Amino acid sequence: MTTGVPEGDSVSLGKLKQMMADFAKERDWDQYHTPRNLLLAMVGEVGELSEIFQWKGEVKRGVPDWKEEEKIHLGEELSDVLLYLVRLSDICGVDLGKAALRKVELNAIKYPAKASKEVTNKENEIENSSTANNGTIEEN
Ligand SMILES: [Mg+2]
Repeated sequence: MTTGVPEGDSVSLGKLKQMMADFAKERDWDQYHTPRNLLLAMVGEVGELSEIFQWKGEVKRGVPDWKEEEKIHLGEELSDVLLYLVRLSDICGVDLGKAALRKVELNAIKYPAKASKEVTNKENEIENSSTANNGTIEEN
C-alpha cells in the first residue's frame, strides 16, 4: 500500500507533524486537540502498548519469538504513541526535534560515558558476586 510517506528512517518529525495537522483539519478535529485531550489520548495509547508486553515476561531484543501479527500490532501501538506525542508537541508549540536533540545533549552531560560505564561495571561486579554467593551447595 502506498501512503505517500517516505520509508523508514527518512520519515521526519516535521512530516509527521504536518500529516497530523492535515488529518485533524480535514475532520474538523482541531477543536478536540487540546493539550490535555492529546496527553490523555497518548497515555491511553501507552496503555495499549503496555498490554502487548503484559504477562510476556522479559522479551528478547528484536522480539524474535513473536508472531508476525504481534509485531504488526506492536508497530501500530508504537505509532499511536508517537503520533499523539508529535501532535501534542505541535499544539503546545514545542519543536520536538529540537527539544529532543537538546535533551540528548543534556543527558550526555548528566551521564558522561566514561563515568557511566564505570558505574555499570561496578553494578555488574556486585550482581555477579551476589549471584555466586546465593548459589546452593549440593550435598552428597
Ligand atoms: Mg492504539
